[in-house]
Amino acid sequence: MKNYSYWLDTIDYDFFKSSELPKNLDVLIVGFGYTGLNAAIQIAKEGRFVCVIDKNDFGDGCSSKNGGQISNLLKPSLEILTKKYGFEKATQIRSEGTNALNWLLGFIKSENFKCDLKKDGRFHGAHTPEEYDKLAYQSQNLFTKEGIETYVVSKKDQKNEINTELYHGGIVFPQHASLNPGKYHLELIKKAMKLGVQVIPKCEMRDFRKINEEFNITTSNGIVKSRHLVIATNGYTSNVTPWLNRRNIPIGSYVIATEELAEDYIKSLFPSNRHITDTCRVIYYFRPSPDNKRILFGGRVSSKEISLLKSGPLLMKDLTRVFPSLSNVKISYSWMGYVSYSFDQLPHIGHDNGIFYSMGYCGSGIALSSYLGMKLGKKVINKKDNMTAFDDLIFPTRPFYNGRPWFLPALVELYKFRDSWEMNKYINRDQ
Ligand SMILES: Cc1cc2nc3c(=O)[nH]c(=O)nc-3n(C[C@H](O)[C@H](O)[C@H](O)COP(=O)(O)OP(=O)(O)OC[C@H]3O[C@@H](n4cnc5c(N)ncnc54)[C@H](O)[C@@H]3O)c2cc1C
Repeated sequence: MKNYSYWLDTIDYDFFKSSELPKNLDVLIVGFGYTGLNAAIQIAKEGRFVCVIDKNDFGDGCSSKNGGQISNLLKPSLEILTKKYGFEKATQIRSEGTNALNWLLGFIKSENFKCDLKKDGRFHGAHTPEEYDKLAYQSQNLFTKEGIETYVVSKKDQKNEINTELYHGGIVFPQHASLNPGKYHLELIKKAMKLGVQVIPKCEMRDFRKINEEFNITTSNGIVKSRHLVIATNGYTSNVTPWLNRRNIPIGSYVIATEELAEDYIKSLFPSNRHITDTCRVIYYFRPSPDNKRILFGGRVSSKEISLLKSGPLLMKDLTRVFPSLSNVKISYSWMGYVSYSFDQLPHIGHDNGIFYSMGYCGSGIALSSYLGMKLGKKVINKKDNMTAFDDLIFPTRPFYNGRPWFLPALVELYKFRDSWEMNKYINRDQ
């Protein structure tokens, strides 16, 4: 079992080497995931001298190891946001999900990025009959109130979407898409470098001070002066930026890829070739690999962070609950990464004391981090169309919270217990 992301074995990133850190810059961006690189591309297009540093190597942040499922949904529903912000603002916030998806699809097309992008749609399975009823109700509202297209699939018709008895029907989001995240990440790096952006791996920002109108930034590779500082560290945010650290809830998400299987067999499990999620509180996400040879299955397997040796078999056990016929299949890859949640489950973009940031995509960040990264870049150079519906939202924290989510194990434990209890109730009844 390889303990790195499957996607890394589908790309060639040997060309990508370290370079010397410049002494003076217009903009230093910390974090070379989708947020940082999309910001860099916008800024470099305007002829500014930009450098993007990352404390890790290519393949270590979320952006090259996620599930590759692209959604247009934000976590809080329109109803929840309406209670807090009123209908008009809530609608604007929710629309940003669709703006992000559409922008990303257009961007990948216009740049001709080769990243196995497919508009294959997503099936969202109900883990109980009650959840199915809720989905059917939501489906109507999503279309009438938000123009988001979905269709309901009954348990009887479910076999056309996914060959499992576990779910009680579900809904399909036909606009949702998928890609190879490693390929997309690499295309972004290449595009940024073509525009003259210096992208430096294994260079950690350790400290910074603002002196007059300039930042003095200490990194593991030396000191650099920059007019602007952009923090794009998402789930890897640390106490180097304490204000952001107090607002970021890092949560580990774990994935496996199976050994190669017969393509026909995979097709029989995923007849519509869509990617899948479900209504469990601790959600699972899975899909066939773009070449249809493996199954990738991800989720939160335990209440605490655990080793990849342990998470792999636990995920496999959950995968065989969906597809019992996979019980003798081996795992080829097991990996994990940290996503960033916020206390209000919304992404946040803006600036604090001259530092620009965007983060908190709550596990659905491919479209949001790309789109908000682009907007962030425009904010740094003060371009006209830089506004988003998130701009005036307060980025919340909690008293005494210091970036270590001590409350998470208990919450995950409780949620997983309830998910299993609810699912087992129907499994036992059906047997
Ligand atoms: C296992 C997993 C599965 C996921 N699946 C999906 C999915 O299917 N669909 C979806 O939409 N989203 C998914 N996500 C979320 C998505 O990948 C992220 O939201 C997105 O990649 C965030 O991009 P980013 O650029 O903001 O952060 P990242 O890509 O995480 O980049 C942040 C970078 O900051 C660097 N950094 C931190 N501190 C410093 C410092 N002091 N100095 C220098 N560098 C620093 C880190 O090394 C890291 O590389 C998943 C995430 C994970 C982990």
